[in-house]
Amino acid sequence: MENRVNYLLLMNRQARKERQEKLWGSVSSRMSEAHRFLATDFTDFHRFIKNNPCEFVKSVARVWDCDGSVIMATMSLTIAVDLGGTHIRVASYNSESITPVAHFRTRTNAREPGVFDRLVQAIENVWDAKAISIGVASPGPLDPYTGTILATPNIPEWQNFPLASKLSEHFGVPVHIDNDANMAGFGEWTFGAGKGHHNLVYLTISTGVGGGVICNDTLLQGFHGLGAELGHMIVDPNGPPCGCGKHGHVEAFSSGTAIARYAAEQIQAGQKSPLRFDNAQRELSQGQLTAKLLADAALQGDPLAISAFARAGKYLGIAVANYLAIFDPSIVIFGGGVSQVGDLLFKPFEESLREHTFHPHYLDNLVIAKAALGDDVGLLGALAWARYKRTRAE
Ligand SMILES: [Zn+2]
Repeated sequence: MENRVNYLLLMNRQARKERQEKLWGSVSSRMSEAHRFLATDFTDFHRFIKNNPCEFVKSVARVWDCDGSVIMATMSLTIAVDLGGTHIRVASYNSESITPVAHFRTRTNAREPGVFDRLVQAIENVWDAKAISIGVASPGPLDPYTGTILATPNIPEWQNFPLASKLSEHFGVPVHIDNDANMAGFGEWTFGAGKGHHNLVYLTISTGVGGGVICNDTLLQGFHGLGAELGHMIVDPNGPPCGCGKHGHVEAFSSGTAIARYAAEQIQAGQKSPLRFDNAQRELSQGQLTAKLLADAALQGDPLAISAFARAGKYLGIAVANYLAIFDPSIVIFGGGVSQVGDLLFKPFEESLREHTFHPHYLDNLVIAKAALGDDVGLLGALAWARYKRTRAE
């Protein structure tokens, strides 16, 4: 092992000497040789690097007189996992890159036993001896400090499940987890619409409402690691029940599920709609009455569908006015399927936001933006988080 390291260091010394003498052709071939050497499948060698990454990179970087990231780019991979309710997605990335070297997708089958084994198999599909850490975006609630899933309704068999330590034990590398919305917010901040901002609020509006907050360049996690559950902010204590069982959370007004439920209730109460659902409640429970269908109806001028989105936008505005007062962000980013409907939701949202914001100065230069990372936001968030935690540990 030591011989291999010494050989590489010797090669690097020669490259440096040649560089000083401006023998660029030799430097380049020397570097290619080093890259080939590093890329060769020396399992022991990679294990050595993996166990001593900082020390190794620093020593090589010193000899090579270059940025350690150049070397990391050649020799290390980060694995990112997006653990969703329906699919597990995994991908491996070279350092500094956000284009996956390999990716794999499989069904979660969250209600059936064996989710952990399916997750391990999925990771093994992209695994490489050069992998040095794993980042996971998981459904919450969870404790990111211990890497424990507390009791996610999406995966019933995981009750106080020590996900990070079990994965770390299996793969022999550090594992960093946080909830999917926090990871999405972190991903948008690192690579997406929030790049360059120091204070950011991210909201995803789909079947539920999730959130992530960057506060003075730090992901807000809180004392228990349960921070920034923005969807469960109370906007009316007498409001409808939320997915979590409590009442009047913004998720209970502004999620896709809430929008469809409100429309079904109005139809049942006798409000006329060109949608003409004979039994709106049944169609709602069968998943036929959706926010997507309502958006299409609203765009054709259906007043009930328009009012369902207007109501969602109004309460979303109240919630965001609260977030402005607490976090004072320079950007609010919206992701998730329901946020794609545009003006239907965002016109009433902006009116409500202006009406409820405590001081107009919060709105000066405030950017309201669409998420930029699309379906890969969970993976890229987990990737960004694993890299961030690694740099912090060095
Ligand atoms: Zn709730």
